[in-house]
Amino acid sequence: MSEKTPSGPNPATAMQSQDPHFIDELVLPQLEELNLIPGRPLIVSDADEVLVKFIAGLETWLETRGLWLNLQSFMLTGNIRDKLTDEPLKPADMPQLMEDFFADHTHALIAVEGAAAALEALSKRAQIVVLSNIPISQRGARAKSLAAQGMDYPVIANKGLKGGAVRHLAASVNAPVFFLDDIPHNIASVAKAHEPTHRLHFIADERLAKLIPPSDHSHFHTSKWADARDFIEGKLSEEGF
Ligand SMILES: [Mg+2]
Repeated sequence: MSEKTPSGPNPATAMQSQDPHFIDELVLPQLEELNLIPGRPLIVSDADEVLVKFIAGLETWLETRGLWLNLQSFMLTGNIRDKLTDEPLKPADMPQLMEDFFADHTHALIAVEGAAAALEALSKRAQIVVLSNIPISQRGARAKSLAAQGMDYPVIANKGLKGGAVRHLAASVNAPVFFLDDIPHNIASVAKAHEPTHRLHFIADERLAKLIPPSDHSHFHTSKWADARDFIEGKLSEEGF
């Protein structure tokens, strides 16, 4: 689920975002400080709705603002409504709302069932990086919250589509790469930027998972970490890792 709003990006950003290799200037230094091991498989996982329960956490937090989420399509904009009047929040107010949500509630988001155990098992055969589109100011809070829930892995605060970052990471490992995300645009972006990446369309919240079909650019679709782990382990074995 995206925090993005339909209010268009500025022209410069729009041009950059069409470049499948684009990496935001705030992201590149974070990628470069990772110490990835060449030759070891890499799992790049999104956090919201993959490692942590984003929608459930958002619903809890919206209540404190007198708002609620009418989960009728795979979008936030237009579906967040006032509890009293039922008026949808204006698209122009969405960026600030999401910034407030991440500032207030990143630390409180609860791990998806089975995520920590699956990653712990997978970490015996692969290195793991979390690639999350949170504001960079929340990078530390996200890493701390994940570590406290058994997922102590490097966190990259990405901005924009994820293909460029995944391609960059893939180039430094030169081994099988896996990518998990709930948002089809990110999966398509990785398909374009680094086609060999094994792409998993993962949506933890089953209410949300019913609202969109599996991404055409994914190789596997699930809401369960046990299934994602089986898929990844199968591919690793097939490829001799
Ligand atoms: Mg997500």
